Amino acid sequence: LEKTFAIIKPDAVRAGKAEEIMQLIELNGFTIIAKQKLQLTKMRAEEFYGEHKGKDFFPRLVAYMTSGPVWALVLAKPDAIKGWRALMGPTNVLKAREEQPKCLRALYGTDNTQNATHGSDAPGSAAREIKFFFPHLVPE
Ligand code: ATP
Ligand code: MG
Repeated sequence: LEKTFAIIKPDAVRAGKAEEIMQLIELNGFTIIAKQKLQLTKMRAEEFYGEHKGKDFFPRLVAYMTSGPVWALVLAKPDAIKGWRALMGPTNVLKAREEQPKCLRALYGTDNTQNATHGSDAPGSAAREIKFFFPHLVPE
């Protein structure tokens, strides 16, 4: 089984949707093998999204990700990385609502920045992100 890393972001947690999203994750065949509710510091958020440092939206992204608690999740399923990205839908919530109205970001996201969920985009980032939040979970 492939593993991926997911975050339920502050807008969705604030809206009281975390439990519902975790149920949908399981209904879609993923096993949640680790979960933790936590508050990101500015330093941790900047490190987590380091690939976007210097982009115009970076300060907005960090302010958003530190605006309240998140759920960090490790998901397992065959082809979990692609499958979770597909279930989340497009990054931009407005585009998601037009193109894939039943995806998680269309259903639970707020706007262009506040898009309810995160998902690793490749095996390398999945391993890095799982280790970032769950250092005791060693990849097999
Ligand atoms: P994530 O990494 O959170 O799963 P993603 O891989 O779909 O999202 P990225 O390009 O990695 O998209 O962007 C990371 C996050 O930065 C997005 O989820 C969104 O919150 C924010 N973001 C990305 N692009 C923009 C943009 N053009 N304007 C505003 N916010 C953006
Ligand atoms: Mg990304």
